[in-house]
Amino acid sequence: RARAVVTFLAAGALALTAGCGTTQDAADDTPLVGVAMPTVEQTRWVADGDNLSAQFRSLGYDVDMQYAEDDAAVQVEQIRAMVDAGADALVIGAVDGTALTGVLAEAHGAGIAVISYDRLIRDSADVDYYASFDNWQVGVLQGTALLRGLGVLDESGAETDRKGPFHIEVFAGSPDDNNATVFYDGAMSVLRPYLDSGVLEVASGQVEREDVAIDGWDNATAEQRMTSLLGPYGGGTKLDGVLAPNDGIAQAVIAATGTLDYVPVVPGQDAEIPAVKSIAAGEQYATVYKDTRQLAEVTVQIVEALLAGGTPEVNDTTTYDNGAKVVPSYLLAPQSVTKDNYTKVLVDSGYYTAQEIG
Ligand code: BGC
Repeated sequence: RARAVVTFLAAGALALTAGCGTTQDAADDTPLVGVAMPTVEQTRWVADGDNLSAQFRSLGYDVDMQYAEDDAAVQVEQIRAMVDAGADALVIGAVDGTALTGVLAEAHGAGIAVISYDRLIRDSADVDYYASFDNWQVGVLQGTALLRGLGVLDESGAETDRKGPFHIEVFAGSPDDNNATVFYDGAMSVLRPYLDSGVLEVASGQVEREDVAIDGWDNATAEQRMTSLLGPYGGGTKLDGVLAPNDGIAQAVIAATGTLDYVPVVPGQDAEIPAVKSIAAGEQYATVYKDTRQLAEVTVQIVEALLAGGTPEVNDTTTYDNGAKVVPSYLLAPQSVTKDNYTKVLVDSGYYTAQEIG
């Protein structure tokens, strides 16, 4: 942090001297932010990168944007290069939330501000702030959408007299992503009572997170797992729904169930364009919209405040214990999207044009 503040003051001093007619070039002191994103595989991270880049650049920052192809070792090297290049701040969407302890110690040693972006970086005291969504609520929205799609809950969220049993299967995201656990726990907080009471049944018997997690959020792995679970559902038993933790896995599940003559109720997450088209076509049931423009804004606000030596605005100081510290957080609100509201939520807000999802 010390170095970030010094850099900022130096930039201010140069701006002043430049105003006094010196020829000194202040460009070298343009603040540099290193943005380390996990992958381009899910388009949401491309949107995140684009939004961050545009917003930082419009404020006069230099941006070093790197994607790690979901490879934790590659990401460590990318971050180390940012440290070596003298970045003033790092914004990191971690591939493996537990793999960055060493390189972040180096970053903090060099006075660089560290912001954990969307995914909580674990096991490191060298994380200054966390910018994300209310990830537990994401899971709650997914579980609730599944129950609505099955008709167990009505539009207002009240229980109906439909007691099933409904047959579902359960998927979770990557074990190395802290979010995946929080999404799963949030969704299961809604679904577990119905599993216990027998309204929901899981033919595979696989419900616990370690049994249903998809390493690396890999869509092909999810499609294979869904295919391998189809056995009991070919005959009399209907696969009524599948808890899918994001749109990539939701679409993989829907592809795998293409051999059935109906589409199960499948929620997702991220409001990615193929998923939104699928929702519009009456296939995927729901998604969770997380406005990446807002997440970029919150992140830029945090970096700006830190580099100015101020205190960033946060709205949560208790939830996200990363094992080494409770990381002060700014958590945004996610929103459930179905066929009923996708135009209003996604097009009217300017997130997509009608053509993009048409
Ligand atoms: C993000 C999700 C995303 C998933 C896979 C999670 O950490 O919060 O939006 O779908 O990673 O990339």
